Amino acid sequence: MRVLSLVSVFVLMPVWAYRVVLDPGHGGRDLVPHSAYGDKYDRRLNYYLDKFREGARHRGIWEFEVMYDIAAKAKALLDATQSESGKKQFAAILSRYGQPMAEIPAIEAFLSRPPGYTENYFQIREDLNAPFRLYDYPDWRTGEIQPGTISRINALAPELVVTLHLTHTEAPKQGAMATVITPAFRTYALALRYAADPAQRNQLKAQFLRSPWRNWFISDNRYKKFGSFLADAAIYFIGFWTLPESSETDFSRFRGYRQNLVRWVYADRDEKVEELYGQKNERYATTLADFTPAGAFWEREQGEPEKWRREDGPEGFGGDNHYAGMEVLRYIRKAFLIHGIDTPKTAAKIIEPYISTWAVPTYTNAIAAFVEIAHTTSQRDYMRMARYRHIYAEAVAVAVYSLLYGLPQKTGALLPRGKPLNLKRYENLAGGNYFRRVSQN
Ligand SMILES: [Zn+2]
Repeated sequence: MRVLSLVSVFVLMPVWAYRVVLDPGHGGRDLVPHSAYGDKYDRRLNYYLDKFREGARHRGIWEFEVMYDIAAKAKALLDATQSESGKKQFAAILSRYGQPMAEIPAIEAFLSRPPGYTENYFQIREDLNAPFRLYDYPDWRTGEIQPGTISRINALAPELVVTLHLTHTEAPKQGAMATVITPAFRTYALALRYAADPAQRNQLKAQFLRSPWRNWFISDNRYKKFGSFLADAAIYFIGFWTLPESSETDFSRFRGYRQNLVRWVYADRDEKVEELYGQKNERYATTLADFTPAGAFWEREQGEPEKWRREDGPEGFGGDNHYAGMEVLRYIRKAFLIHGIDTPKTAAKIIEPYISTWAVPTYTNAIAAFVEIAHTTSQRDYMRMARYRHIYAEAVAVAVYSLLYGLPQKTGALLPRGKPLNLKRYENLAGGNYFRRVSQN
């Protein structure tokens, strides 16, 4: 009896503040040889499956550097909630955007990585990309596997991750912002049905091209939108690309079992992969037609919380991730209005989301607000990266508060909704808080 009452006291106590990880993209450098400096290390094969993605660079604006600067400034604003005087200052900022609570709660903010490699470039004789890889990697000296960015995020078990990027794709002259989103199992399963049933292919392709996911990101120009979807679905399910516009495996392009390249409770051990590799009707089958989901990761993927994170929701598709990203962008737009730089007429455009099997929104449990906040090729965005980082940072900090606690306000077409995420449904799951059960440590 005594034990029971202690347990209930423990449960009622607010043990955790909400945690947010601010995740500025990139940080390292695409150096050769990729066998030493790459990313996406496959323990089983003992090599890097990818080069290091160093991000956008344009006329002295380096994505990794600007995004870190904005994230660090946003963290400083959120860190203010740790003290009484800081809370007052943050409340004053919030009240320019909406109606904050009388008592601002403390928010724990973290950065996903240190500043970029240039900070100590000339001293480094070691593995330059070690602090910046997305996936786990072996230490150069000991060979011991070290956690990459995704594993470090998982170890913090946050409610929210805000991933900040720039893009160098062709931009409208006036610049643009976009969310970066990823669907859940339900949408990817179209590719499984496509592979399994040739008679239904035309219908399934038409169904995909009518869905909100149809504007799939094309990373190889030999593939059209549907072909790119099939290829990315194949990478998600079986680790291989498919051939252009086909559901047949391209055995020359292996991209790894990414769920096993990070440290979390959903990874399979290497022995499991060896045991099931290439087997029909198993999770390590090598064709879409033979793939059958089973095990911790695929149970997670088919579960309700991943549907909430990645499908349907307030934006109509893309789930809470899409809403969170859109809110960050809408707060950025509002910030430039509040600071008198934009009028409603000149406010930044939000263009269609970038849709693919992005790693951070897939392999962390947190709500992932993943955003491209500017186009480096737009003169207007370029100027803003140089001069207005503090405004982006303020918008990110306000958006974090609003997503966690809500920030009621007058809304309009351009403006944030101010509604909080429904975090309770993740916290109150049978089996425990969804956000906090991701870590293996
Ligand atoms: Zn980027």
